[in-house]
Amino acid sequence: MPTLASKKRKTTARNGRPAPELIFGDLWDFDPAPETADPKLKPRYELFINGKFVAPKSGKYFDTINPATERKLAEIALAGPADVDAACRAAQRAYDNVWGKLSGRERAKYLFRIARLLQDRAREFAVAETMDGGKPIKESRDFDVPMAAAHFFYHAGWADKLEYVAPGRRVAPLGVVAQVIPWNFPLLMCAWKLAPALAMGNCVVLKPAETTSITALKLAEIIQDAGLPPGVVNFVTGAGATGAALMAHPIPAKVAFTGSTEVGKIIMRSLAGTDKKMTMELGGKAANIVFDDAPLDQAVEGIINGIFFNQGHVCCAGSRLLVHEPVAAKVIAKLKQRIKVLRVGDPLDKNTDVGAINSKEQLAKITKLVASGVKEGAEIYQSPCPLPAKGWYFRPTIFSNVAMSHRIAREEIFGPVLSILTFRTVDEAIEKANNTAYGLSAGVWTDKGSRILKMSTELKAGVVWANSYNKFDPTSPFGGYKESGFGREGGRQGLLDYCQLV
Ligand code: NAP
Ligand code: MG
Repeated sequence: MPTLASKKRKTTARNGRPAPELIFGDLWDFDPAPETADPKLKPRYELFINGKFVAPKSGKYFDTINPATERKLAEIALAGPADVDAACRAAQRAYDNVWGKLSGRERAKYLFRIARLLQDRAREFAVAETMDGGKPIKESRDFDVPMAAAHFFYHAGWADKLEYVAPGRRVAPLGVVAQVIPWNFPLLMCAWKLAPALAMGNCVVLKPAETTSITALKLAEIIQDAGLPPGVVNFVTGAGATGAALMAHPIPAKVAFTGSTEVGKIIMRSLAGTDKKMTMELGGKAANIVFDDAPLDQAVEGIINGIFFNQGHVCCAGSRLLVHEPVAAKVIAKLKQRIKVLRVGDPLDKNTDVGAINSKEQLAKITKLVASGVKEGAEIYQSPCPLPAKGWYFRPTIFSNVAMSHRIAREEIFGPVLSILTFRTVDEAIEKANNTAYGLSAGVWTDKGSRILKMSTELKAGVVWANSYNKFDPTSPFGGYKESGFGREGGRQGLLDYCQLV
């Protein structure tokens, strides 16, 4: 049973952590509750090409690290141009000989099987995801893995009903698709990319992010077990150069990229003049907008979920809070109280709210941007929570008195850092929310339905949540405006991005 820490009582040191000073009413003292399922990791992961795990032609491997402990988890094969070429050729053969000829009804069976097998191994995948990427187990267990399975189920349902994707037109697959994904939702991004492409009849070569390849390669095991014909799905692991080789390969008819706006622009430049189709899911700097008539406690929970979920490693994170002046002081006070009781620490602990930052480089980037906020004159408040001695962690941080010109109000931090600005009128809120190079998502908190409709029409964001935040569903298309990219993932619209209309 948890006990409420007594006033100023020192807890005993555990897990090598310093004993934190707890103030009465601030934090419940829980015993550690680590998730114990076996992630079934292999010491070494090979490339997955043509239905088999194969060594890279270069013989090179790189380490994948657990960001919570800084310990090596496994070795991952480094794919060079020759491996990328072999994967693209395998995909083309599979498309020409098998997958492109299969009926939608048959393809659906494979997708359904993948979804079921993923559900069967859900706990194992959740632990592996948490160990490789640093996100809290309650997120990988309750969000990432079930949502990944849901995407395969949803698209299994579409595979034999493709005539309804574009009523009045006939749809056909594109052929081979090249896909590159980031490290913030490693398995879920695989599902978002693979499921619509396969349902539509395409074959795929996918590159996971360098720091989080494990769950993609575990998914390769499931793809083998599901009996998917060899070459329909191929995984090439490696760093940016592997991604660049894949995007530039002549075979894929389409490239689908999720990652930073910076790399997205490099890819778009490199493909200018080719006839490859593209979708780009890039960065964001979303505004959560809270009006004075909003249910404030509910809004505070939404703001916390919006920015501290997955350590703020979320493209659509509500990283800016625009709060109505009459309630600004009250909301800021509630937020400070709330972040004090967020549990930061071991991502495998079921009580942890905020896990580890994905990499040392990302931690350095967050630290630098936070320092710029202080230097530019914003007022900082950080949770006084203890941080583990080992691993990459960052205290939940909020900045008030932020100006639109501050870097923390303009640049994507991709960490647990909230920048707070205020507004007086609806028009000012819209103008400030839209005053960004990005346009991926936004949140509106108000009691007035008419205001929600006005805001959702005028906000230049692909997704606008009303009195909620970070809600996802495979039926609902997701994607950005402006420098947040183009194309949609999920829903009927997402399928349109993987077909040609004939
Ligand atoms: P990133 O640095 O752009 O990397 C994304 C992927 O591209 C990784 O697999 C990366 O490999 C690879 N890559 C790097 N350089 C490349 C190149 N020149 N050509 C081809 N591929 C290359 O982004 P990240 O830091 O992993 O992820 C965070 C970013 O993703 C944030 O900006 C976030 O907003 C965005 N994101 C957007 C969405 C969305 O739906 N809009 C969803 C999730 C994330 P390495 O891992 O080896 O560097
Ligand atoms: Mg890792």
